[in-house]
Amino acid sequence: MVEVIVKELPERPRPGEKVQLPNGEFIRVRHVGIPWLLPPKKVCNDPECPWHGYLSVRGHVFTVTVESVHGRTATVIHEWLHYDPKYKRYEKRRKKIHVKVPSCIEVRPGDIVYIGETRPLAKTIRHVIIGKSEDVTEAKSQVLRLEQSQ
Ligand SMILES: [Zn+2]
Repeated sequence: MVEVIVKELPERPRPGEKVQLPNGEFIRVRHVGIPWLLPPKKVCNDPECPWHGYLSVRGHVFTVTVESVHGRTATVIHEWLHYDPKYKRYEKRRKKIHVKVPSCIEVRPGDIVYIGETRPLAKTIRHVIIGKSEDVTEAKSQVLRLEQSQ
């Protein structure tokens, strides 16, 4: 297996920017297709990375909490409200999802992260972490602040 190189940049790169790694390789920072999400500060040469590799994100995008991290995979908890028409109330539902952690994103249990659906990567893994709670644009963080204050 080829060793993955991760380089931390002094400033957050823009999508479309080319960054040179210490081994001379050029990495292009991609768009993952979510306008309010910013690329991570680190750059990697992992082919299975949504920002710097060839992994496409399509379908579901969830905001989840990290429960545990095992190497480059993690278990996250997705909680949502489901409306029950008979009792006219919302009920809490939760599901554990196995996700891939790209080499350029470091997560710890308790972190709030954004995950996107991708192709099946392993028997139970079909989502990838695409950003952390601080990797959002100013407009999106204002929306989140409004939602929290309600
Ligand atoms: Zn990466």
